[in-house]
Amino acid sequence: MKLLFYPHPILKQKAAPIKEVTEETRRVAAAMLEIMAQNKGIGLAGNQVGYPFRIVVINLTGEKKNDLILVNPRIISAEGEEICEEGCLSFPEITGKIARAKKVCVQFTDLAGKQLTAEAEDLLARAVQHEVDHLDAVLFISRLSPAEKQAFRTKLKQLEKKYTE
Ligand SMILES: [Zn+2]
Repeated sequence: MKLLFYPHPILKQKAAPIKEVTEETRRVAAAMLEIMAQNKGIGLAGNQVGYPFRIVVINLTGEKKNDLILVNPRIISAEGEEICEEGCLSFPEITGKIARAKKVCVQFTDLAGKQLTAEAEDLLARAVQHEVDHLDAVLFISRLSPAEKQAFRTKLKQLEKKYTE
């Protein structure tokens, strides 16, 4: 498993639900947490590492005890709005201001197969929304303002060129 970059086609494919949490799910989650930590990210979705299923890992601090693993996450409610600078491990060197809900309620399955509901606010809410977007094949650049998108055209072209090489 390795980190995939834009414009890898798997990033534009909707991830499939995980029918059952198994040993494989736990193995994938552990590998994803490691890749995320190595790349100093705060969130990673399955399709970003070539695993086209609905699993995301999040860790805002880099401390092991703050590892979060969400299987089949679903945002069931959202409120407020906050505009913040945001980046993505699959888009090195690109960050832009993106509006997200300030608070979300997310339903997910944990690695023990238990269904849970949790509330997230601020940066955690942003990370959850960004990662669930990945599972739905929505890339953060599609949420940039047209002006910002224009500003990143050259960098995106560079990534596209690097990918074809
Ligand atoms: Zn991302």
